[in-house]
Amino acid sequence: MIVVLLGAPGSGKGTQSKLLEASYNLKHLSTGDLLRSRSKVRDELGKYISDKIDNGYFVSDEVMLKIIEEELANKTNYNGYVFDGYPRNLAQAIKFDELIKKVGRKIDLIINLDINDAVIVERIAARRVCKCGASYHLQSNPPAIENVCDVCGSKLYQRKDDNEESVRIRIKKYYELTKPVVDYYQKQNLVTNIDALQSIDEVHQSIKRVLEVYSSDN
Ligand SMILES: [Zn+2]
Repeated sequence: MIVVLLGAPGSGKGTQSKLLEASYNLKHLSTGDLLRSRSKVRDELGKYISDKIDNGYFVSDEVMLKIIEEELANKTNYNGYVFDGYPRNLAQAIKFDELIKKVGRKIDLIINLDINDAVIVERIAARRVCKCGASYHLQSNPPAIENVCDVCGSKLYQRKDDNEESVRIRIKKYYELTKPVVDYYQKQNLVTNIDALQSIDEVHQSIKRVLEVYSSDN
């Protein structure tokens, strides 16, 4: 089974992908993770990717497709894949479709995590993180002591691009690039919109219901 999760920054794609990985045994594939793990293979492609990453460049769409093709050809014990935030533009979506057909698979479901912009800005601007990986929200999930990590006691900080202005730019970019992807899949009747304003667990339960209905029909 191949599921694609789409949604603006702050909509919870990563969190929901991880939950799907745990509850449906779908391998979570985000482009960042794919690139990082492929860059550790010390062949020509691996070296090319680590070069790009180290210098802060993006890899081309063709390279990304090649990595995905390799990944889909790997033998795994997973029941399928959940793509997190990929494809992120229309050109990628068209190429991704071609690849999926070429390897004899199909996209089963596109889940679009729907959220309004004001909430995204509020969610991200109130996010505080720790170098240990812990993440907090000033209102909904504050640390016990202001600005101090509950887990390791370090000082919390705000990611450089988590301020309101950067978030608005990221959202604008998202709509320009990814809205056409949602429309493209909508025409293929693959998209289910889910209200991402619900709690993490409610969103997960909603996605599970969509998957269960789909599985019982197919
Ligand atoms: Zn910490």
